[in-house]
Amino acid sequence: MIRRLCAVVVECDRCAARWEPMQPGAVLFADESEALRAFVRDPHTDTGWRVRADGQLWCARCVAGEECALWGHAPTPWRRCRCRGACGAGRARDGGCTVEFRHCARCLRDEQRRLTRTAVREVS
Ligand SMILES: [Zn+2]
Ligand SMILES: [Zn+2]
Ligand SMILES: [Zn+2]
Repeated sequence: MIRRLCAVVVECDRCAARWEPMQPGAVLFADESEALRAFVRDPHTDTGWRVRADGQLWCARCVAGEECALWGHAPTPWRRCRCRGACGAGRARDGGCTVEFRHCARCLRDEQRRLTRTAVREVS
């Protein structure tokens, strides 16, 4: 049987990402109030989605992006690339790679930099 269903989904007002509950569950709903009930129910908070003051629904990525734009990124400490010269960036005097990585703990944006000679001396 082929049947046409009319369903409601929850999407981010900004980037149109589809909301899915943390626990496996329905993502198609019969009407808006059912969708909203599922969204507001407990597990959604773990996914980072937010209902904004203006009533818009934003996904975790958009929420994080806005927080970073407001307050700046929350970068993790720099980490040395562990390739020991294999990634092609070149080897530092201590034998390690000359590239360092870090990412923002909130929006997950990656950042990388080349070690300067003084930085190499500091970490070695
Ligand atoms: Zn979004
Ligand atoms: Zn960030
Ligand atoms: Zn490397």
